[in-house]
Amino acid sequence: MRDFSRVKRVVVKIGSSSITHENGRLALRKIDLLAKELADLHNSGRDVVLVSSGAIAAGVSALHLKKKPSRTAQKQAAAAVGQGALIQLYEKFFLEYRQSIAQILLTKDVMDEPCQRENAMNTFEQLFAYGVIPIVNENDTIATDEIGFGDNDRLSAYVAALVQADLLILLSDIDGLYTADPAKNPEAPMLKEVREITGEVEAMAGSSHSDVGTGGMITKILAAQIATEAGIDMLIANAAEPDILERVFDGEALGTYFYGKPKDRA
Ligand code: GLU
Repeated sequence: MRDFSRVKRVVVKIGSSSITHENGRLALRKIDLLAKELADLHNSGRDVVLVSSGAIAAGVSALHLKKKPSRTAQKQAAAAVGQGALIQLYEKFFLEYRQSIAQILLTKDVMDEPCQRENAMNTFEQLFAYGVIPIVNENDTIATDEIGFGDNDRLSAYVAALVQADLLILLSDIDGLYTADPAKNPEAPMLKEVREITGEVEAMAGSSHSDVGTGGMITKILAAQIATEAGIDMLIANAAEPDILERVFDGEALGTYFYGKPKDRA
């Protein structure tokens, strides 16, 4: 059993593939269930941040494109269309559970520039004080290689460090970190916990990529590096597991748990 009683502030990241159907359109029931679980987590007395991908997927669907475009301007245009649609849906479902939300769009330079960083931090703190769940995404319209996070796995780790969260949960379409890519090697066992991110652990991440999102296991390990260095524990778990967040917080040993470095050495 894991004990999450000390976890008072949690950042949850959901990947595009976990809130879309195989045809790329938004999976309303999944978004509804996520909103319910997060509102309940908040009701249990915790500060909650959601980092949600899905803007590009929502835009692709709204623009009736056949698949995710490859050119940057097309992806950014799709994200600009989709971000509003995505937040509108979250607003609708969270409202049903009497939970206020906010939208925060970030780029990496905000994290690196002390004044902007402090502003962002103060905004998060004020939102927590107001009892709001901030929903974060990358500001895809202006994100370029220079100022972009690259993917929402890393973005969520930076956000967890920014708000000094106790725990980061990456909800994905995979149960956790396997010793080898389970698509190629079905016998490969899943790790229950990782105490140190060694070269061996990095090698296990391979290069698994999903079609809808931008991350694979590699970006999750990069996120784990950022989070654990900042003294934050991180969990990779499968978004498709029923009542996943409730079960995690009840102590069920689901997914792969990465231990953050002790805060004084972080
Ligand atoms: N910001 C992108 C979106 O909302 C997702 C990036 C990612 O999944 O890593 O579509």
